[in-house]
Amino acid sequence: AKNNGKNSYRFYTSDLNEKMLEKLEMENNLRHAVERNEFMVYYQPKVHMHTGRITGVEALIRWKHPTKGMIPPSRFIPIAEETKMIIPIGEWVLRNACRQIKSWEELGYPAMTVSVNLSVIQIQQPDFLEKIKSILKETGIKPSCLELEITENTIMKDFEFTNNILNALKKLGIRISLDDFGKGYSSLNYLKQLEIDVLKIDKAFVDDITENDHQQAIVKAVIDMAHSMNITVVAEGVETWEQFKFLKSLNCDKVQGYLFSKPLPVMEMEEMMREKKKI
Ligand code: C2E
Ligand code: CA
Ligand code: CA
Ligand code: CA
Repeated sequence: AKNNGKNSYRFYTSDLNEKMLEKLEMENNLRHAVERNEFMVYYQPKVHMHTGRITGVEALIRWKHPTKGMIPPSRFIPIAEETKMIIPIGEWVLRNACRQIKSWEELGYPAMTVSVNLSVIQIQQPDFLEKIKSILKETGIKPSCLELEITENTIMKDFEFTNNILNALKKLGIRISLDDFGKGYSSLNYLKQLEIDVLKIDKAFVDDITENDHQQAIVKAVIDMAHSMNITVVAEGVETWEQFKFLKSLNCDKVQGYLFSKPLPVMEMEEMMREKKKI
């Protein structure tokens, strides 16, 4: 038994070392990825439920590693946050997305909003608001075309502080979207204190909405409450017509999900807009 204990201790430490090494390697790789332009932005359309039209897109980062291939954000965003590499990376996504929206406007595509995900680390930077202002100025987009997505977990980290930042962003004319609603410590109570424009119902709720009566009641209550506060509701991760129809019957405003389209690289997104694809 004693031996076993020693062994498992040894395995444990080597496991830990491996994790640390992996993290260090990832950090290095992230630094190189910024320098070598290995990131891309994909766009996933958001569709209006009643008109079937694309009203906006969400910018989602992609990392094309030269040897490892596509690395999903779920694998590198947490490390980028821990190492603060999310600051330059997040700024890059923001600038890229704003330029893209401007370019689409110039090419004559119908007006759209672009949503960009923000990390709590970015918001905490003292120069965060100045950076946003300068990106808006530099790209020349209307602030109302930019939507910033913030998760409820981010907001709950420091409610007062984040709420102040959100209010400052709103004063600039930027739209605020509450991401992953229902996934974290959601409380309908603090919704009243937040001046958000959009609420995104997390995929977890959408997944079993057609089967689970309890979930249905919650989603219905959330949508009604949001509407009473003039908040637009977007359902995330809609994959089936059954889910679509159900959400429509609950008066959900917009959908985003594989049913309509996966996130697409720029060229394919443009193709889709040219086809004026309707749901
Ligand atoms: P999110 O903001 O909740 O984004 C939605 C995720 O769900 C995306 O995953 C999208 O591809 C996926 N998705 C959309 N529709 C469906 C569907 O119908 N079915 C399924 N199974 N999935 C669907 P993705 O692109 O892998 O991004 C994962 C997360 O990484 C995002 O979740 C967001 O939290 C984070 N992320 C992505 N890009 C950025 C970024 O530029 N900055 C920051 N800070 N985070 C980002
Ligand atoms: Ca999002
Ligand atoms: Ca989300
Ligand atoms: Ca989600």
